[in-house]
Amino acid sequence: MYDIEEVRKDFPILGREVYGRPLVYLDNAATVQKPRCVVEAMADEYYNVNANVHRGVHFLSQQATELHEAARETVRRFLNARSTAEVVFTRGTTESINLVASCFGEAFMREGDEVIVSEMEHHANIVSWQLVQARKGIRLRVIPMNDRGELLLDEYEKLFNGRTRIVSVTHVSNVLGTVNPVRRMIETAHAHGVPVLVDGAQSAPHMAVDVQALDCDFFAFSGHKVYGPTGIGVLYGKESWLDRLPPYMGGGEMIGHVSFDHTTFAGLPLKFEAGTPDYVASTGLARALDYVSRLGMDRIQAHERELTRYALKRLRRIPDMRILGEAEEHDAVVSFLVGNIHHLDMGTLLDRLGIAVRTGHHCAEPLMRRLGVEGTVRASFGLYNTMAEVDALAEGVERVAKMF
Ligand code: PLP
Repeated sequence: MYDIEEVRKDFPILGREVYGRPLVYLDNAATVQKPRCVVEAMADEYYNVNANVHRGVHFLSQQATELHEAARETVRRFLNARSTAEVVFTRGTTESINLVASCFGEAFMREGDEVIVSEMEHHANIVSWQLVQARKGIRLRVIPMNDRGELLLDEYEKLFNGRTRIVSVTHVSNVLGTVNPVRRMIETAHAHGVPVLVDGAQSAPHMAVDVQALDCDFFAFSGHKVYGPTGIGVLYGKESWLDRLPPYMGGGEMIGHVSFDHTTFAGLPLKFEAGTPDYVASTGLARALDYVSRLGMDRIQAHERELTRYALKRLRRIPDMRILGEAEEHDAVVSFLVGNIHHLDMGTLLDRLGIAVRTGHHCAEPLMRRLGVEGTVRASFGLYNTMAEVDALAEGVERVAKMF
């Protein structure tokens, strides 16, 4: 195991106090804190290298381009993609999913065609497809789940028919913590000749992801959830698919030649990267991926699973506790409600104890409806959280519960 106290020193913000109490940051599913090396790498690039990338002949532009493209190689390695042509920089998971929905929808979907999503999707993976629905008259088919928060794979199989064009499913639920058996789900889809987009927003920060082993066709994640900066994310796509998709946005960077009569597009991955990319954020992201890789994704996962198990054990002892999400395969997210205490009251009072959790529908309103709740309190863990912080959470929840 890595030395957690040493690791915490890499994250200056963890040392601060809120309301005179030590910060207990348990809102990692929303965004994680940044290690010093990420911020320093970005500051260094702004101070010493900054220049627009790709077309510059001058020294700084070439150096900035090298850093940007080296970052792409770091992402390739992190995901074990075959080639950097398969790594598209976006603004985040949301943009990655929208890119696929929009371009795949445009090229391969007609009225009456179907996309399979699940009951536990984030709005990013619902609304993107509803936009295609509005444009092209496609249908969304929804994989149901059981009361523990596990997808029903038998029902999933039954959803396939001659109109199924794509499956778009989350790897890990941002509300329930369920780790979906995406490898198996991809096999099923491929047996029907259907490609799969995996929403990896909540898996990439917590486990080793190998896109070739998964055999997913697309994989999306956000930089800010994996210890990198905000405003950058990744879309992995198999070259064979990306090649066949039309561009997403038009502009500089994504073209070959332009005339008023005819324009040709750049090759992969630039075809999907119109405009000046956030080349400083890509450096920050690469530094973050190096950071977590050095700690070891397997060790991070083992540590966070231990925190999750312990949190579930501690919270279950509290009277009137309802845990939402009891899947066998459970990752670093714990959603709960206590008696009829409103999630917002619980979150607000925990905040006064220095404990940052998230409350509300977590951008998953259809899932809330399935669970029969308006919202939940969500504690989510990162590589730097400690058992003592889980104790603080459990004690805080007990204290709030007694007040009601
Ligand atoms: N998908 C899931 C499962 C998420 O948890 C999130 C963010 O919480 C997103 C998509 C959207 O990520 P972003 O807002 O970084 O684009």
